[in-house]
Amino acid sequence: MALYRTERRNSVESVATATRGDLMINAEKICKTYDTENEHVVALKDVDFSIARGEMVAVMGPSGCGKTTLLNCLSGLDNIDSGRILLEDTDLTTLSDRQRTDYRARRMGFIFQVYNLLPVLSAVENVELPLLVAGVRPKEARERALAALELVELSKWARHRPAQLSGGQRQRVTVARALVTEPAIIWADEPTGALDSRTANDVMSLMRALNQRDGLTFVIVTHDAGIGDRCDRIVRMEDGAITGEVAHDVFEQSLAVTTRATR
Ligand code: ADP
Ligand code: MG
Repeated sequence: MALYRTERRNSVESVATATRGDLMINAEKICKTYDTENEHVVALKDVDFSIARGEMVAVMGPSGCGKTTLLNCLSGLDNIDSGRILLEDTDLTTLSDRQRTDYRARRMGFIFQVYNLLPVLSAVENVELPLLVAGVRPKEARERALAALELVELSKWARHRPAQLSGGQRQRVTVARALVTEPAIIWADEPTGALDSRTANDVMSLMRALNQRDGLTFVIVTHDAGIGDRCDRIVRMEDGAITGEVAHDVFEQSLAVTTRATR
């Protein structure tokens, strides 16, 4: 399977960044408010958040505490009011909209709770779409999309439309679509929220395998403690702030090697 490995070996960029502290994301004191007609919501309050390259981090916390806002801000989908976000040493706030969009297309993949697959397209057409948008030639895009579907064990279902697939299969298509562009980081907002627990577990196993095999960085918002426990670290949020974190030594399968309150 050529996906990932070849690019990583040849990537001068990743070798260069590996020698520099190796932070994928370093966000400092980010603030975000939403102003509507009759409401002023402080969604993120002075949030510091850093993620090492190759880490798999869960973000957990009650509904409305700012998890989605955090993902949207860190990935540059949304603007912050103040603070600083470095993504692989690129200061997000200095980029134009166009540059941010390009950066996202090259370096990021997204998985959401609702599948966001286009119903009129087959699985392989959905997966190849981000490549076609990025200007990859159709023949190559098709080959890469099929390779990504093979990786998530959906080769046999490549020509099926979303409506002909189960929930778990659909979510695996979105995983394939997120990784087909060979991103450095995948943002997943409640990726297993719509799945039964067994299927959720399978999708998590797939993401974990990609993380461990290819060093792909994951940030996963989840309500599922079982998913959180399989990540390297759980970051807890409450009321727009990070209130604590737990690190797991996943290789030893032991919990809570370090526990500390971050504020
Ligand atoms: P979570 O993902 O943890 O459930 P969100 O990040 O979606 O939380 O929301 C955090 C807070 O910001 C909530 O109080 C929510 O109502 C508010 N909020 C989120 N998006 C918007 C928006 N587009 N306009 C106004 N308020 C918003
Ligand atoms: Mg949310």
